[in-house]
Amino acid sequence: MNKLIFFFFLLLVISSCADNFPAFDADSAFAHLEKQCELGARNPGSAGIELCRDYIVNELTKCNAEIELQKFTVVLNEEEIDGVNILASFYPQMSRRILLAAHYDTRPWADKEEDTTLHNTPILGANDAASGVAVLLELAEIISTQQPQQFGIDMVFFDLEDMGEYGDNETWCLGSSYFADNYTKPKPEKAIVIDMIGDADLSINMEHFSYHNSPNLVKEVWDIADQLGVNEFKPIITNRIYDDHYPLIAAGINAIDIIDFEYPFWHTLGDTPDKCSPQSLGIVGQTMVNLIYQEK
Ligand SMILES: [Zn+2]
Repeated sequence: MNKLIFFFFLLLVISSCADNFPAFDADSAFAHLEKQCELGARNPGSAGIELCRDYIVNELTKCNAEIELQKFTVVLNEEEIDGVNILASFYPQMSRRILLAAHYDTRPWADKEEDTTLHNTPILGANDAASGVAVLLELAEIISTQQPQQFGIDMVFFDLEDMGEYGDNETWCLGSSYFADNYTKPKPEKAIVIDMIGDADLSINMEHFSYHNSPNLVKEVWDIADQLGVNEFKPIITNRIYDDHYPLIAAGINAIDIIDFEYPFWHTLGDTPDKCSPQSLGIVGQTMVNLIYQEK
């Protein structure tokens, strides 16, 4: 090999090492989505949510996470409701932190069904809840087997996101509000909520509050997706979506929401695994991997 060819060979090796991010297993993530749905509806008070909590804790235990159950009670419509946020920490000795979050409760009411007699039936929530949890659980496995160079990772699985009344922000995101109100640790450098990212027809716009409060983090995530050759992250700013990132922003945390809100089965009985795809989970999952494992 002459010197010039060797030089280019060396360059190739170095550049491929720099790009050597762990691979996100989309099929394995999708299995996490399906398993949650097999537990049935996971609305507060259901048998399904108890089983789902056990499932999440069990998976995180396998990944050697430090786990804390944050129990709380809220009053909604003059009724006391108990909730449990599941907190997991990886590499707690590392000072730079990324917080990743998703809600795991599903909506008790299919109140976007055209047939009003179905409005009191709980939804299965394949996309609206299970998809975000599925990506986080798959990430947990990657993080546990390969320590990121720059960041320790915290995860929160929020309870009681989806019992709200349309138009009344105070009634949504109760688990994340409790978490944010009681947050005493040093703030993470970056916090990312993922919600409804399993839609087989994935299209993720820049959510208004995220863009206006944490423009650099939005840009960073969208740039990473762009570098991956992913075109499902659109450079379009959408309306305000009051989701679990909002209480984090209000608490002064650099937080964004990754959400595909254009989902025809939102809050209907049609929110089932066949409307979701492994590819969609993979797109969001790999983008998160590359954010976590970057070397800056
Ligand atoms: Zn919802």
